[in-house]
Amino acid sequence: MDRQLLVGGERVETGEWLDVVSPYSGQPVGRVAKGGAAETEQALDGAAAALAAPLPAHRRAELLTAVASLLAERQDEAAHLVCAEAGKPMKAARVEAARAVSTFTFAAVAARTLAGEMVPMDASVAGEGKLAFTLRVPVGVVGAISPFNFPLNLVAHKVAPALAAGCPVVLKPASATPLSAFFLAGLVEEAGAPAGWLNVVAGSASEIGDVFVADDRVRLITFTGSGDVGWKLATRAARKRVKLELGNATPVIVDADADPAAAAAKLAPNAYSFAGQSCISVQRVYVVGSAYDPFVEHLVAATEELRVGDPADEDTDVGPVIDAKARERVLAWIAESGGKVLTGGNTTDDGVIRPTVIAGPDPRSKVECEEVFGPVCTVTRVTSLDEAIERANGTRYGLQAAIFTESTRSALAAAKRLEFGGVLVNEAPTFRADQMPYGGVKASGNTKEGPAWAIRELTEERLVVLPF
Ligand code: NAP
Repeated sequence: MDRQLLVGGERVETGEWLDVVSPYSGQPVGRVAKGGAAETEQALDGAAAALAAPLPAHRRAELLTAVASLLAERQDEAAHLVCAEAGKPMKAARVEAARAVSTFTFAAVAARTLAGEMVPMDASVAGEGKLAFTLRVPVGVVGAISPFNFPLNLVAHKVAPALAAGCPVVLKPASATPLSAFFLAGLVEEAGAPAGWLNVVAGSASEIGDVFVADDRVRLITFTGSGDVGWKLATRAARKRVKLELGNATPVIVDADADPAAAAAKLAPNAYSFAGQSCISVQRVYVVGSAYDPFVEHLVAATEELRVGDPADEDTDVGPVIDAKARERVLAWIAESGGKVLTGGNTTDDGVIRPTVIAGPDPRSKVECEEVFGPVCTVTRVTSLDEAIERANGTRYGLQAAIFTESTRSALAAAKRLEFGGVLVNEAPTFRADQMPYGGVKASGNTKEGPAWAIRELTEERLVVLPF
């Protein structure tokens, strides 16, 4: 499967290729043309031309609805592609494909409902005799950078709200998993997007990123990925809007009154689904008092029931991490955690890390302080809800967190005091519906995605004042 770059409506080859391999078997899956600064500039020419010929909201909404329909028809194909290039088990890949349909559907709604506000002018003496309102105008061309772990739906979260807002996009997909982005771009073209509205340039991250930073035509950079890369981009592009969706070291509190079996049943799949390579994968669980022993027993049992192996097998729950380097790093972090490995901690014969539960890790260990991005979950006994909240907050990250409790008072106390962009109650912190406002605080980012929220970031308010 060869894919050319999509630049200003043209398919472009560069003479160089990026090979895409299966993270499970190492076998080739396809290749994409490798672009750099020159192709990015050409893509920006195409995007700038598209911006000069704006599409009305109803056409943007129709386009997005048409993409949702095409994707719904080809969900199975999309899921197989995600599975092949990312090593994501088919169960999870199917969920991702269905969610991408939802993302386009909600973006179409956002396009149709985008509106400014009336300003109550005669509320002051100065405003008497005036009528004022705001228009929501597209910010301009968007440079979008996406990560490897949701190669379809996170590309959808970049592309769909931007098109809804009337912003042409130059997308740089992750080098490990670019094929889903090209698949989606094909559907956007098929749905009738004029040339230049969506451009896809795979290739050298630093070259493409440098153009996004330096070229004044890029008015907003939307980035999902690791904090190291994201915050540097924000510093370097200080005069642009740089919207960051970054990592987490996701905590969960299981309070003393929670149902330990129900909590474990929710948390085990969400610690290991896609081998923990979700930014909101369950990573650190703090269990209060007497709930600890039964919870750990249920968690280990539920973890050991998960099927580990070939992601293409429809029964597989847990597949490989993205590459050998990631595998070695995760195994090293397990080895140096300072806790007791209750299950897992090693690999299967085909090199897949077994789902791993670590009890009582060193609070300064990497599995407690950093984002593991692997199939690892720690459990720690604490003596009170206060201590649990303090431990959960003891991280530079702040994306999503969760609490399991029967008490409304405890749930609301946690919602108030957990320093995260989202707090889930009696649900895994990995839960996300695509219309939700989703995004982190602290080191986890500076924005919210979910089309109705993203479209606000992608538009500017222009004030209009006239005599009245
Ligand atoms: P990554 O290594 O930071 O890469 C993300 C994207 O940035 C890729 O397209 C990458 O290109 C590109 N990139 C790398 N260096 C760059 C540079 N100097 N300038 C511009 N772009 C550059 O992250 P990842 O490993 O793909 O994804 C995992 C991370 O994403 C985790 O931290 C995870 O928590 C986070 N994430 C966050 C969310 C969220 O919504 N908050 C969702 C999913 C993932 P190459 O692939 O070519 O290197």
